[in-house]
Amino acid sequence: MTQPLQIVLIGAPGSGKGTQAKLLSEQYGIPQISTGDLLRQAVAQRHPLGLEARAVMDQGLLVSDEIVLGIIEDRLSKPDAQRGFLLDGFPRNLAQAKALEGALRKIGRILSCVLLFQVDTEYLIQRLAGRLTCPQCGAVYNRYTTPPRFDDQCDVCGTTLRHRSDDNEETVINRLRVYEAQTEPLIGFYRDQNLLKAIDGEGSIANVFKRIRQAIDSIDKKPANLQSKRARSLSCRTQHTKPGAPRKPRSTKRKIPGKPPRR
Ligand code: AMP
Repeated sequence: MTQPLQIVLIGAPGSGKGTQAKLLSEQYGIPQISTGDLLRQAVAQRHPLGLEARAVMDQGLLVSDEIVLGIIEDRLSKPDAQRGFLLDGFPRNLAQAKALEGALRKIGRILSCVLLFQVDTEYLIQRLAGRLTCPQCGAVYNRYTTPPRFDDQCDVCGTTLRHRSDDNEETVINRLRVYEAQTEPLIGFYRDQNLLKAIDGEGSIANVFKRIRQAIDSIDKKPANLQSKRARSLSCRTQHTKPGAPRKPRSTKRKIPGKPPRR
């Protein structure tokens, strides 16, 4: 028996998680679950939780674990998530990672792997500054690298594209600092569990997608609870010791300009 694919995507804002999660969702027939999208939906629907979250999101800080965990538990209980899932933007700190572990354990499920998107900070800022998203179908474009065919109009559904309110320079810098302080510790957490697969997130969308598929295809499809700890550790070690592959994933630590955020 093979487990459904249950994947976490970790990476700084603008590292391409959302774009790749959409492609992976089509490829593997499992839903992309983005806490950022779910929160933006709650804001758009003027849901009380959304209104509470909005001010925090606009500053580029993390919404409370209580709100996010409520949203994610509800989403994971939906029928489509029983086939597997791609968690995009969750977990974002150790408390959320541990809560996820506990929630999955309760329903007898485990993570297949954690994809870590590695992209240089300068590249991230350029990506975020040019990012345009479709409020209707969620398609993502970039003014500089992957523009829509017609000015600010979605190629898929024709809706007018939007520049996210939290993609301005000040908020972006806060979001990068929050990533460094709160989300980067997850790298060690998941590396210790031999779940981490570092992906070079630079280059064309198609090339990054190819790298991710190779990483996913290299997962041992046997249910992890039937594999010995030794076998799991060996399969992952093979990944990290390929000639030329960095042993330790690169971080985005360098060169984030500005002051640290308050939270
Ligand atoms: P994203 O679309 O993933 O960049 O998320 C946009 C914003 O939503 C973030 O800057 C946070 O304010 C909030 N957010 C999304 N996911 C989480 C999470 N797992 N925990 C806390 N806040 C989150």
